[in-house]
Amino acid sequence: MAGIVVVFDFDKTVIEPDSDNWVVDELGATDLFNQLLPTMPWNSLMDRMMVELHAQGKTIDDIEQVLRRVPIHPRIVPAIKAAHALGCDLRILSDANLFFIETILDHLGIKDCFSEINTNPSYVDVEGRLRISPYVDFKSSPHTCINPCPPNMCKGMILERMRCCVAKEGRKRMIYLGDGIGDFCPSLKLDEGDFMMPRKDFPAWNLIRENEGRVRAEIHEWVDGAELESVLLKLIEKIRIQESSLQSLMVDCKFGSIPVAAHESRPQVLRVHQ
Ligand SMILES: [Mg+2]
Ligand SMILES: [Zn+2]
Repeated sequence: MAGIVVVFDFDKTVIEPDSDNWVVDELGATDLFNQLLPTMPWNSLMDRMMVELHAQGKTIDDIEQVLRRVPIHPRIVPAIKAAHALGCDLRILSDANLFFIETILDHLGIKDCFSEINTNPSYVDVEGRLRISPYVDFKSSPHTCINPCPPNMCKGMILERMRCCVAKEGRKRMIYLGDGIGDFCPSLKLDEGDFMMPRKDFPAWNLIRENEGRVRAEIHEWVDGAELESVLLKLIEKIRIQESSLQSLMVDCKFGSIPVAAHESRPQVLRVHQ
């Protein structure tokens, strides 16, 4: 189903913890992190923490080792592999950073399942420090979103741009999975016929409930990796059935072979929200 684009948030969606917190906690820098958090944006703080950890003797290899043992629900990797095998176009949209995400996806053997990783850029500098930059340079050109998005990234704007690009290839249906406050904005950018999968009892799910009626996509919650897998695969199957009904109707119309009775019964089959 090349017509389905599945967009995954990363922290607390693909992996169980927040990758930033995981690295900071596992490398023993939690106190410093908490002390600095009120003084700067999260993304800038993570860059600062990487410099601090390097000064304390922590290497890139130490960071990689910590990332490789990040907790993940056992059904997440099979879910991603299955969606990819069904022909879906899978993408990451995350406020973590490229180094963390690529290291983890590589380790899990699922990096090639994703066509895009949209996240904060990162690189290892000449001194061997991991440096993390904001996705949006909020000092020189801040984004103008009024939703609760962090200064360095509006996921809604990225999703809109994604939709524009893929629309050139023909009709696409989107499924978005996420848990955090930053995942609320993209949920408002989804269209009718798309699906939003917020993690139950997490901030995005709460915001969506408080703003009922503003999300045009059909909403399907999930609690853990097992439910994520079953809901995601059901939605992919649902879209597949809807799209094949639509195609057969278009063929019927083209050849003028659609009987009178079918004119009356088909719209039920085609309804997006069943
Ligand atoms: Mg998240
Ligand atoms: Zn936004």
